[in-house]
Amino acid sequence: GIRHEPTNKIVLDLEKLYDEAGEDLAYVARYARAIQQQRGDYNGRVLSIRADDLRALAIVYDISPSGLIERLTEAGVLVADPRAFFAS
Ligand code: C2E
Ligand code: C2E
Ligand code: C2E
Repeated sequence: GIRHEPTNKIVLDLEKLYDEAGEDLAYVARYARAIQQQRGDYNGRVLSIRADDLRALAIVYDISPSGLIERLTEAGVLVADPRAFFAS
């Protein structure tokens, strides 16, 4: 059957990230733009990113991957459930 457990996928709210997030998340924003470019994925409101890329970004910020997740959550740039995001 269909499972409804929450995914661990890292999904960024691009509008929040690009327009509202502070200078602190400038590297995340730059990285997201680069990924959009590599995928040719320009029209999305959200962007799913690789766990590997989150780990690389965490190194840039000199924190753990879960620490970076926490920071992104506090900044409100993570989408917990993309389907609910589009339903609202
Ligand atoms: P690639 O890594 O050789 O992947 C080639 C294609 O396989 C991708 O084309 C995509 O259609 C598919 N693919 C690879 N991994 C995944 C995945 O985890 N999920 C899904 N849904 N599809 C996957 P695409 O998207 O046009 O990307 C072209 C190239 O751009 C990729 O070649 C990779 O070198 C780079 N790229 C794209 N997105 C990312 C990213 O999020 N992180 C990194 N590090 N590179 C990326
Ligand atoms: P989901 O992963 O929960 O994503 C829900 C919606 O969020 C997607 O609807 C899409 O509009 C948006 N979204 C999520 N990640 C990205 C992203 O990196 N770029 C863009 N532009 N939009 C994104 P959509 O496309 O109708 O997909 C519905 C569901 O189909 C997805 O739910 C997922 O379960 C599946 N799906 C779609 N594409 C892929 C894929 O490349 N790989 C895998 N494994 N599943 C996919
Ligand atoms: P997803 O497409 O649902 O893929 C979930 C996981 O399956 C990925 O987690 C990765 O571990 C594995 N996977 C899927 N396709 C491939 C593949 O072609 N090659 C390899 N080596 N592994 C694959 P991951 O890497 O954390 O990515 C999370 C999400 O980010 C993906 O969910 C997808 O929505 C997005 N993504 C990652 N890389 C790409 C890419 O190159 N192109 C696109 N369009 N989306 C990507």
